[in-house]
Amino acid sequence: MTRSEVRESHIVALRFGDRKERGLWRRIRCFLQDHPTPLVWAWNVAEMFLKNMGGIFERVGAKRSSRWLKPVERLIKVPIFDCKTCGQCILHSTGMTCPMACPKQLRNGPCGGVRMNGNCEVQPEMYCVWVKAVERAARISNRLELGELNPPVDWQLQGTSSWVTFAIGRDNVVTGSGSGPHHASEVISP
Ligand code: SF4
Repeated sequence: MTRSEVRESHIVALRFGDRKERGLWRRIRCFLQDHPTPLVWAWNVAEMFLKNMGGIFERVGAKRSSRWLKPVERLIKVPIFDCKTCGQCILHSTGMTCPMACPKQLRNGPCGGVRMNGNCEVQPEMYCVWVKAVERAARISNRLELGELNPPVDWQLQGTSSWVTFAIGRDNVVTGSGSGPHHASEVISP
């Protein structure tokens, strides 16, 4: 796709896009996400902090910790990423593009229905979340994370704080698999 086609599809998305995505804030949000390096730095700092918090969250209780942290997380992530509070954040591996905006909520790249102009097959007026992710990931240092396989969406985590699930390692555990694998890595790389 040429640069002018990309620009045109962005303009179309801006004009006909999701109601929440119109207006000044949508432009600011797009600017922030299209220049993701500072967001990645912020995540790197948060990651270092959260990695040391797992024990504390477990002592306090994951549910209680999540109850306290979720409002803070939403306060930051809803305006910037239109976060849907999936509780299993992979922004750091998608060029800081929330995959939950994808109508199919895919976690490992686009489906086969991306249109020639880069738009979504389900919502033709919307630019594909994963095309955006690829474009943005090319601008950041940890771009290789985009190629890593992610576990499927775990709906049991919906509405919880992804900071807590990350800190205690719960975001990587596959549930509902009976006697099968219980860790995401067992599913995606048997
Ligand atoms: S991946 Fe989940 S936690 Fe991260 S921004 Fe998207 S909805 Fe929010």
